[in-house]
Amino acid sequence: MKLGYKDITKNDWFLVSWTLSNKCNYRCEYCPDILHNGSTGQPRWETVERFIKNLKVNKDVCFRISGGEPTYWKHFIDMAECVKEQGHKFSFVSNGSQSPEYFKRIAPYTDAMMLSYHKAYADPDHFIKVINESKITTVINMMLLPDDFDEAFSISEKIFSSTANATIWPKVIVDKTYSDNITNEVVTYTDKQKDLIKNVVDKFKDTDFAVTDLSHSRAIIEIEGNDTIEVLKKGCPFNFDTLDKNNSINSTYNGIAFTVDRLSDNPNKVRIFALRSFGESLYHSITDASLEFGFETI
Ligand code: SF4
Repeated sequence: MKLGYKDITKNDWFLVSWTLSNKCNYRCEYCPDILHNGSTGQPRWETVERFIKNLKVNKDVCFRISGGEPTYWKHFIDMAECVKEQGHKFSFVSNGSQSPEYFKRIAPYTDAMMLSYHKAYADPDHFIKVINESKITTVINMMLLPDDFDEAFSISEKIFSSTANATIWPKVIVDKTYSDNITNEVVTYTDKQKDLIKNVVDKFKDTDFAVTDLSHSRAIIEIEGNDTIEVLKKGCPFNFDTLDKNNSINSTYNGIAFTVDRLSDNPNKVRIFALRSFGESLYHSITDASLEFGFETI
């Protein structure tokens, strides 16, 4: 039997998936003791360095490091640097608890990271800071606890709308509470919660994008007319000549974070979305910018 990647574009990949240790600064309720109690100790730097330098594979090598929490190993940044020196890709899974400065230091050696959001410990503002300041391409594993399901979605929405390079993956919790009897059974969700999860999983390839229902929290304005793009250009630095029909972007309009969905180019028609609380300010900005062209509000 030969195992291969489902995605054939990865056929030339060689993945080094490495669990460095079981040391972690968190004690998540759904995580068995054996995965975070530190019983394995940390690896020796000489061993890790020797392995990285001696690994010779005629493929695109990608390291994916996990723990416990790998970033608390004192040689973790050295490891990332060593991997990059060999011309390989470096990625890791973390709970994101290190400071933004730490992530900025490891960023030059990191191709991507996966941050798991554990609600008992994590803070959305900290995640936003880490992602924005490090500028590392990030996937967030949003752990979906049944009792905090709605909150998980609003935290996802907050992080997603405040960052430019983050994707959110909803993660169901599986039972691993007792290490001598790991069932991997999914914990109990309500029918409504299951429907929502199924919808996301069925409809979208998680490698492409994340989906968060934002409709209840956004003010939406539709603009139509020959000068639509001119009006947008007055408050937004994006080059709208590159925005084709049926595409969208996230940017800012006079400092207000907004999404532009180009519905049509003949006539020019866009829908713009901003946080509901900014709706009125955005409306005034758009109508001010439209004054020189003339506009009609419907
Ligand atoms: S952060 Fe990860 S390793 Fe640490 S306790 Fe939570 S689930 Fe376990």
